[in-house]
Amino acid sequence: MATTLVDVDETALRALRAAGLRVTAPRRAVLSWLVKHPHSTVDAISAAVRGMLGAVSTQAVYDVLSVCTAAGLLRRIEPAGHPARFERRVRDNHHHVVCRLCGRTDDVDCVVGDAPCLEPSDVRGFAVDEAEVVFWGLCPDCVTAGRPAQGFPQQEETRQ
Ligand SMILES: [Zn+2]
Ligand SMILES: [Zn+2]
Repeated sequence: MATTLVDVDETALRALRAAGLRVTAPRRAVLSWLVKHPHSTVDAISAAVRGMLGAVSTQAVYDVLSVCTAAGLLRRIEPAGHPARFERRVRDNHHHVVCRLCGRTDDVDCVVGDAPCLEPSDVRGFAVDEAEVVFWGLCPDCVTAGRPAQGFPQQEETRQ
């Protein structure tokens, strides 16, 4: 079932205007969709936007993501070894918990409430303004499925 632009969240429109960006259908679609689908990959976002608008190239989606991230409307997170993910929740210094196996990413509120939430013992004279914190582990689904709890997936089973 395709989502139409009628369903598009009005905050997307206001956010684009406030940032001084031209309002285009792909930008509205991406920003609106991400409200309910935080931490989505480019593949998932592209598929959703095509469902809403029809033919939109993946490159066009990349362009939207890069412009909106640069304007501070989106936050890009890149857990090591996993594809980049995007979200609308910006500027609150929240952290993420990432599943090592399936890549599921959830929010973890900043303990202190603002950056940097960690107090390093010695920063060698740097003016530190942020601590990038990623909690790694297994999500409930991967725990339930009994996937290996250590490290990364082992897919090198011998086939006979
Ligand atoms: Zn998982
Ligand atoms: Zn987040």
